[in-house]
Amino acid sequence: MASDVVEKLRAGVRDVADFPRKGILFKDITPILSDPALFRASIDLFLERCRGRKIDKIVGIDARGFLFGSAVAYELGVGFVPIRKRGKLPFRTEVASYSLEYGEAEMEMHIDAINAGEQIVLVDDLLATGGTSAAAAVLIRKAGGRLLEAQFLIELEFLHGRKQLEPTAVASFLKY
Ligand code: AMP
Repeated sequence: MASDVVEKLRAGVRDVADFPRKGILFKDITPILSDPALFRASIDLFLERCRGRKIDKIVGIDARGFLFGSAVAYELGVGFVPIRKRGKLPFRTEVASYSLEYGEAEMEMHIDAINAGEQIVLVDDLLATGGTSAAAAVLIRKAGGRLLEAQFLIELEFLHGRKQLEPTAVASFLKY
């Protein structure tokens, strides 16, 4: 991974203080999406990690995981599966709950989205505490999928989200 590409992408992440609530430093990736060279460079980082692997499907997490994951799936020529917040998917779903700072949240996946034995890569924009992606990993494994790796454009290392995801392999490109 070329370090100048990483630095250009890093410069494209906008820090927004106190969003969505006080005390959170939000990593806004919309400047990357709106710049064609940066958007392509970000997708290329995911693709580099996927090269040479037999992947059947990319699973993206609601909502920014859809933006990166679907472009990666398109380029690899594999299927894309959305995992969404509760109540957004129309067909029958499997549900996994996880804890937030206050209370619980739930993620859902269609029951027929993944076939047993399929090789999966999970994609999201950012790994924070790891609760969301750990719930996604539960859904993928419950469906019989083989989760090869979870990939994130950004990782907030000080929150130790990787630990929550164990034993899943984790790759991230911009670390804070
Ligand atoms: P977590 O479950 O704590 O790992 O949170 C990950 C999810 O929340 C991802 O889908 C991110 O898009 C979003 N998220 C959490 N923290 C931030 C942050 N500081 N900036 C931007 N997005 C965040």
